[in-house]
Amino acid sequence: MHCCPNCRQASFSELQKLTSLWMRPRVCHLCHKAAYLPVRNIIVALIVWTALTWVFIGLAIYMNQVMFMLGSIPAAVFAVDLWIRKAPLIAFE
Ligand SMILES: [Zn+2]
Repeated sequence: MHCCPNCRQASFSELQKLTSLWMRPRVCHLCHKAAYLPVRNIIVALIVWTALTWVFIGLAIYMNQVMFMLGSIPAAVFAVDLWIRKAPLIAFE
């Protein structure tokens, strides 16, 4: 569970947090106030994932081995875990 920025209690599930975008904030079931993920963190995660995917594209071309492209999947998990899952939620004004 993740902390609500309004009431400071663990009220958001993993899925609720990962899907709480600024255009569709999630409502805390304890204090009934909305919260969302910082847009900056989502942009950073996308940039990191894209950069790591290009590294794997380069490796696939250089090593002539298409299996390196599968590295994009753990790269996405890494980016989401570090910059979205661990990001604090922001209270929706
Ligand atoms: Zn709350």
